Amino acid sequence: MAIDVLWAPWRMKYIEYTKIEKSRGCFICEAVRSSNPEEKLVVHRTESVVVLMNRYPYNTGHLLIAPARHVAEFAQLSDSELFELAAILRDSLEWLRKALSPDGFNIGVNIGRVAGAGLEDHLHIHVVPRWNGDTNFMPIVANTKVIPEALVDTYRKIIAAKNQLASAQTTKP
Ligand SMILES: [Zn+2]
Repeated sequence: MAIDVLWAPWRMKYIEYTKIEKSRGCFICEAVRSSNPEEKLVVHRTESVVVLMNRYPYNTGHLLIAPARHVAEFAQLSDSELFELAAILRDSLEWLRKALSPDGFNIGVNIGRVAGAGLEDHLHIHVVPRWNGDTNFMPIVANTKVIPEALVDTYRKIIAAKNQLASAQTTKP
């Protein structure tokens, strides 16, 4: 037990270093740091949350909502980070409704590789818009690389909807 109270400042450097190493090559961390949001398909970014489009979507408008910090589990999030995640999830559904008029949504999280989480280990919530009758279309989309032009086109639609909703809110009495 005494070992826990040893003064070992080099550990802090090591912990910081492994954190940086872990986040290197993570596409979500890259989106958090990017100076070109459109290139990374970043729809929204705050100090603690990032929203980006999935480059390999299960359907048009497939979004990923993630904490800005490279963490793998909900248990690692603060209350304020959790609140902001949920608040931005709420808002993102409105952006998608306005931009793409879906009939519904699938919202889900994969934790651990057995559940299908990617190697990047960066917690994220999937938001997949759904339309009546899109079920036959889904498997084809899942195995096909979506053309980047279509992604950017959808990206711009979502950004426009987000900006319209934001300005409607600020002009409310
Ligand atoms: Zn990351």
